[in-house]
Amino acid sequence: MDVILFGPPGAGKGTQATAICGTLSIPHISTGDIFRKHLKEGTELGQLARSFIDKGQLVPDSVVCDIVASRLVETDCAGGALLDGFPRTVPQAEMLYAWLESQGRQVGAVINLQVDDAVLVARLSGRRTCLSCGATYHVEHNPPAENGKCDRCEGDVVQRKDDSEDTVRARLQTYANETAPVLAWLTPRSPVHSIHGNQAINQVQSDIEEALRG
Ligand code: ADP
Ligand code: AMP
Repeated sequence: MDVILFGPPGAGKGTQATAICGTLSIPHISTGDIFRKHLKEGTELGQLARSFIDKGQLVPDSVVCDIVASRLVETDCAGGALLDGFPRTVPQAEMLYAWLESQGRQVGAVINLQVDDAVLVARLSGRRTCLSCGATYHVEHNPPAENGKCDRCEGDVVQRKDDSEDTVRARLQTYANETAPVLAWLTPRSPVHSIHGNQAINQVQSDIEEALRG
């Protein structure tokens, strides 16, 4: 099953992704994580992406679509994938749906996590991220067991540069202008399950599981 995990930055997509992927036995494709890996490795693509990410803007569609297309053809995605942070524009959605259709596949569910902007700002400015595996934490709501060390891989847990308050506000504006309208494009094409993301992490998880059971 192919699933889109949709919602503004800070809604809890990354936090919920592991459980969904475990339940459905599908891989997690986060375009943000792919860019951060390139940034860390200092690739040309990473340099290009940085100029957009640091300003809270979207990386151009042609770049993002190429990355997703080359990831989707990998063998572990043959039975479906969880797309987190993609699509973020209508052209990205068109590319995804055309590709899935060419493979005789379709998006089985869109999980739309809804959270108010004030909560998003508090979540993103308190978010901490593992430099090695990308796991996310929150200084208050979900801290790692040992300060600054990842529970999963013992990597260093730090604040992302684009989680500074000014960049967070730019990202929320970008979401409102460019990404929120994608939901209207998805709605007639796939089952959309809107979930209250402003609940405890476990409650959000069980609401998502219930929605996926249909
Ligand atoms: P996204 O991937 O949608 O940008 P994350 O999953 O990284 O969002 O979550 C953003 C921040 O909010 C993280 O610090 C995470 O620990 C925290 N968080 C996620 N879900 C919840 C929740 N339901 N309640 C409180 N904090 C949460
Ligand atoms: P995320 O980790 O999903 O919050 O993404 C971090 C940043 O990467 C975003 O603010 C964008 O600059 C860029 N990015 C991630 N996914 C996409 C996408 N689908 N389209 C364009 N830019 C993206």
